[in-house]
Amino acid sequence: MKPKILLIEDNEQNRYMETFLLEKHGYEVVPAEDGPTGIELAAKIQPCLILLDIQLPQMDGYAVARELRLNTSLNGIPIVAVTSYAMMGDREKSLAAGCDGYLEKPINPDTFVADIERHLNLPKKGNSPHESNTDS
Ligand code: MN
Repeated sequence: MKPKILLIEDNEQNRYMETFLLEKHGYEVVPAEDGPTGIELAAKIQPCLILLDIQLPQMDGYAVARELRLNTSLNGIPIVAVTSYAMMGDREKSLAAGCDGYLEKPINPDTFVADIERHLNLPKKGNSPHESNTDS
């Protein structure tokens, strides 16, 4: 069974790009276009990781992270914030809201999956599970 990643992101292009990269590396991506949907799906699918856009309609990513952290059944699931807010303090705000990591947009397709995998609670086994590194 492929490891599932919940992707909470309202922008279609970002969803497409992140899904493409993650699927290419062997993950199943479950998309959510807004926070409430993401929160509902998180409990249902118990993903191995949650990727969380901060700039979302209705409920911003900080509020979503706080809500997710109230659910003890989701305690072990890392949350990585992905945000285009290039502002001082965002990283701290994300971490304070319960996120485990922080990535800035635009994402770098060459390092995106590796950056996310640093937060996965998987046993370390070298270059798992992707082999995208090239020296050319
Ligand atoms: Mn957004």
